[in-house]
Amino acid sequence: MKKIGLIGGMSWESSLVYYQLLNQLTKERLGGFHSAKCIMESVDFAEIEALQHEDNWNRLSQLMIKAAQNLEQAGAQCIVLCTNTMHRCHKDIVKHTDIPFLHIAQATGEEIENMGIKTVLLLGTKFTMEGDFFKDYLQNQFGIEVMIPAAKDREIVHNVIYNELVKGKILGHSREQYIEIIGKAAMLGAEGVILGCTEIPLLIAEKDVSIPVFDTTRLHARYAVDFAHS
Ligand code: GLU
Repeated sequence: MKKIGLIGGMSWESSLVYYQLLNQLTKERLGGFHSAKCIMESVDFAEIEALQHEDNWNRLSQLMIKAAQNLEQAGAQCIVLCTNTMHRCHKDIVKHTDIPFLHIAQATGEEIENMGIKTVLLLGTKFTMEGDFFKDYLQNQFGIEVMIPAAKDREIVHNVIYNELVKGKILGHSREQYIEIIGKAAMLGAEGVILGCTEIPLLIAEKDVSIPVFDTTRLHARYAVDFAHS
């Protein structure tokens, strides 16, 4: 079994889920007393959040490169960056490390493709919904068409993530707002919805909506466990 290197803390609310999933999936696979071999480098999210909102992506890339290099030096055999948003820095990380980088959009795209879905709604931070790094990956690697909510709804989705989910607040009112936004997209042709922020699965589950849900946290963790046994 290979050792998985996790860059966590963005936020720790979802890093916790990653750790749990890696171990559960390893146990399902191997049974007995088996658990995942992994190391986590966990950052202070206050520092990250401030730099994101200052648009200081150079500094963020430097921090992500350092975290990835620390994992590599500690014996990790792959990098799992436990956040969609910070995949904006993925090319810089790849350039400065020698172990495989397991991209969250690769894990997600493979599942969408397997289900034969062509058009999906993407929910995440504004950085993820409005930037190109995630949408272009799905478009270029898989030919998937990615829709995003209207500006006012993007604001709601983003604010719920930063004001509530990363602080561990799971509110029914916000769930209703997300369900409404997903419903509108389904009427406009979205065949599925990507929970493209690793905390959204704490709020929304498959049972809440009428279209298939792509939980990036779960898909990324499963991808990492598959890699660890390849
Ligand atoms: N965990 C989130 C994501 O998947 C947002 C927090 C962050 O900005 O990293 O995008």
